[in-house]
This record gives sequence, structure tokens and C-alpha cells, in this order.
Amino acid sequence: MQNRFIALRQEIEAAEKARYAPFACFADDCGHREYPEAEDPYRTAFQRDRDRVIHSRAYRRLRGKTQVFVAHHGDHYRNRLTHTMEVTQLARDTARTLRINEDLAETIALAHDLGHTPFGHAGERALSEALRPFGLKFEHNLQSRRIVEVLETKFAHIKGLNLSWAVRDGLKKHRNLEEDPTDREHNGSLEAQLVDISDHIAYQNHDIDDSLRGGIVTLDELGKLELWREAVKNTPSFLPEKVWISAVISSLIKIMIGDLLAETVARLEKLNPQHAEDIRKAPFEIAVFSEEMEQKNLALRRFLYQKFYTKEAIITQSERGQQTIKAIFARLIDHPEALPKSFREMIAAGERKEIVIKDFIAGMTDNFALEFVKSLA
Ligand code: MG
Repeated sequence: MQNRFIALRQEIEAAEKARYAPFACFADDCGHREYPEAEDPYRTAFQRDRDRVIHSRAYRRLRGKTQVFVAHHGDHYRNRLTHTMEVTQLARDTARTLRINEDLAETIALAHDLGHTPFGHAGERALSEALRPFGLKFEHNLQSRRIVEVLETKFAHIKGLNLSWAVRDGLKKHRNLEEDPTDREHNGSLEAQLVDISDHIAYQNHDIDDSLRGGIVTLDELGKLELWREAVKNTPSFLPEKVWISAVISSLIKIMIGDLLAETVARLEKLNPQHAEDIRKAPFEIAVFSEEMEQKNLALRRFLYQKFYTKEAIITQSERGQQTIKAIFARLIDHPEALPKSFREMIAAGERKEIVIKDFIAGMTDNFALEFVKSLA
């Protein structure tokens, strides 16, 4: 429908050209799909991809998956879905500020944790250990890609969501840098790089918030961290404690984003990219913290690791989750007939049993896993 009140896709694409930096990923340039489809009249390729992710079953299941605290433990703690939304907000805002593709950053962020197991990183470790005797391991970023490329059903004759190339490539970029800092095949787009660092900024800040709320770390302990003290300095001290904590965390996020933007701009000036491809081929990453912030950040990550993730209450919850996953895996290896029909069909079609069981378990919410293990008893 051509009408002066209606924005057609071509107009949105033209607006991208007018507004974005030359090194952004443009929807009409990086939006091609493995199986070509007719274009939508109103939405760009990335806007359509975003909608496909939001309407996927894997996205809805994020709500029932633990971040660090067990997802049904308390109403105010983060779960995988609220974490995803915080990452998306940061990625989208920073992409807008840097004049690169907000829709692409948003879509990658919404999909970045789709592959997460139930029970947080503890669940991921348990599944990986269960797979080891079969020469396999579990990586949530690879699983996120597998979900959008294979496991979600949207079309009759093709597997997955048929997302555009730039989104799938952006998911590949999502690596666990703490485990292996060299684990990089190439630089992703700047949009993908922003999602990666937004993920770090989001979890560090919400983990501080959740650990304070859970009484697992104290304000005195946090006071030993340089970054925390800096954020405190920017916050009026007369505020009531609850408000004050939110204000300090908000200030901490601002400090991190400020540093990220300054370092990104410095690196863009050095590289002077003229095309998205220049970013991907650059000998260094663009969207990173300064060296100084990286050091302070490392101290914060170590702090969270020592005081939060390895705290007894968290470990106890985690162990229960790990036992659940291992019990389900062991049982299904011996009794694959207990798998739902669609998964049994994958085995019948030639997929390895261990991989199908991995797909089934990784897709579970915490509660589903706890109920399923009971049904096996
Ligand atoms: Mg994440």
C-alpha cells in the first residue's frame, strides 16, 4: 500500500543509508538469506528476523531458565529472559549512538542466549561433561545457532528460521572469552561486537544487584572494588539504601558505557573503516573497553566469581541442577524411546542419538527438567 502515512521498507532502507555510518551493516546489503524469500513490504530483513526470534519457542523458554539464581527462587532476580532484555537494551542504545544498525544489534542480542541450558552455567557444564564420553561438548553459542538454523520450525520444507546471514554470523561471534580469550575466528560486525560487550556489561551489573539482593555480597565487600568506589562517588549519598543501590549500579553502567564508547571511537579513528567488511577484517576488535577499564573489569569479574558464583547457596542450587541434567542424559541414552516424538524422528532421520538428547535437554526450562526427571523415576 503506497500512502503518505505509511513507511515502506524501501524508505526504511533509504533512511538507514542516510543515517548510519558507512561501516554499519545495511539491511539491503547484509540481509540475504540461505533460502531466498520475497521481501516484506514494511519491514527490513533484520526487523523480520527480530520478529522471528521473538515468536520462537526457544525465546519464550528463556523465561524459565536460570541466570545465576534459580529462576523460580524469587520474583526480582534475573532469569535468562530478563538478562536477554537488558543486553538487548544496551546493544540497541550503543548501536544507535554509534550510528550503526540498531535492528541488527537488537536481533543478535535477542537470540544470543537461546541455546542456554537450564540451571545456568552449571547446567552447561553438566551437559558438556555428559557429552564428553561421546567425543562431544556443549557450547551455548553454537547451540543458539543450531536453534535458529535447525531446531526451530517455521517452514514446511526448510529447517530453522532462515535468518539473514548477518544475524547468524553475529551469533557465531558470541564466544565465552573468559574460558578462552583466543577463541575468535574473526571479528564480527560492529553490531555483533556491541552485543558481546553488552552481554558482559549487563551480567556484571545485574549480578552485583542480584547478589546484594540475595544477601550474598555486602556493600563493604563491594567497597574494595575500584569500579564500585568510582560509581559511589558519582551517586548522592543521602538516598535511601534501595534507591542508592540502583543509582550506584546505574552509574556503574554509565561508567562502563562511557569507556566503551570512547575506546570504540578511538579505534574507529585509527582504522577509518569505509565498509562493514573493513571492521570484520580489521587486525583488532573495535568495540572493547580501554586497557585501564579492562583491568578494573577483570577485578570485578574475579570478585563476582569468588564471592557470588562459588558461594555455597549458589553451588547447592547448581549441584541439584547438574544432577538433574546428568540423570536425564543417562536415562535417555539407555531409553531414547522416552524422548518426545519430534526428537525420536530426528534419530530416525539419521541424527546421532547423543546430539538429539543434547538438543532436548538444552531446550528445557529449569522446571521442565525437574518435572521430567521425576517422571523417569
Ligand atoms: Mg548472555
